[in-house]
Amino acid sequence: MNRTIYIESLNKKSKNDNIIALQQYAKEHNVAIIDETGLDFLKMLIRTKQAKLILEIGTAIGYSSINFALLSDDIYIDTIERDPLMIAEAKKNIALFNLENRIHLIEQDALELDIKELRVDYDMLFIDAAKSQYRNFFEKYAPLVKPGGLIIIDNVVFHDLLFKDYIKNRRTRSLIQRIKAFNEWLKDMEGYDTYFFNIGDGIAVSIKGEEHVRDSSKSNK
Ligand code: SAH
Ligand code: MG
Repeated sequence: MNRTIYIESLNKKSKNDNIIALQQYAKEHNVAIIDETGLDFLKMLIRTKQAKLILEIGTAIGYSSINFALLSDDIYIDTIERDPLMIAEAKKNIALFNLENRIHLIEQDALELDIKELRVDYDMLFIDAAKSQYRNFFEKYAPLVKPGGLIIIDNVVFHDLLFKDYIKNRRTRSLIQRIKAFNEWLKDMEGYDTYFFNIGDGIAVSIKGEEHVRDSSKSNK
């Protein structure tokens, strides 16, 4: 027993068999779905924020979207995925949960999508696609979030690879540099108050500024 296992055991709820099947599929096929603690944290944010309109970059098999949508009947999600295999799985899974009316799967590369196809009043944006592109995703999609809305970024420590002394693979090394640079860029970003959490694989939450509510302990120069 350790801290993580103990806390997780307290959070364990009886789960839907179909959700368990999605987790199983992800494990068997190496799909990087969000872990339990990260998901609980996001679900808690959605509920306390009463977020109804969510935009997700990186659907994969639909696991996170489905979990968000199951929180409440009035939650609506636009989710973007480019990989045909993932798209096929996600479609199947969204149908299995009868969520076709509330999860809108956009089958395109998020870097190429015309944002005119999207709304401009999302309560929450969840960035969980190619880690090397986080800054591009943030710059492109954060403007579609309402003032006071949340931008959530997953995997900001990238499986702890950020702390390895020696990484052999050159591409991995360069990816790690990009993630570090993104975190540095995000932490002082004008117009957003960002908090980094040691939850799951590292999660950042940026609150989009409203003129009248800013965390003054985080005020930008
Ligand atoms: N949010 C999911 C996991 C997403 S895994 C969950 O927690 O359940 C990341 C996904 O992002 C992969 O399926 C990958 O194909 C997709 N992706 C990566 N770059 C993308 C891009 N530029 N546009 C659209 N999808 C992208
Ligand atoms: Mg992730």
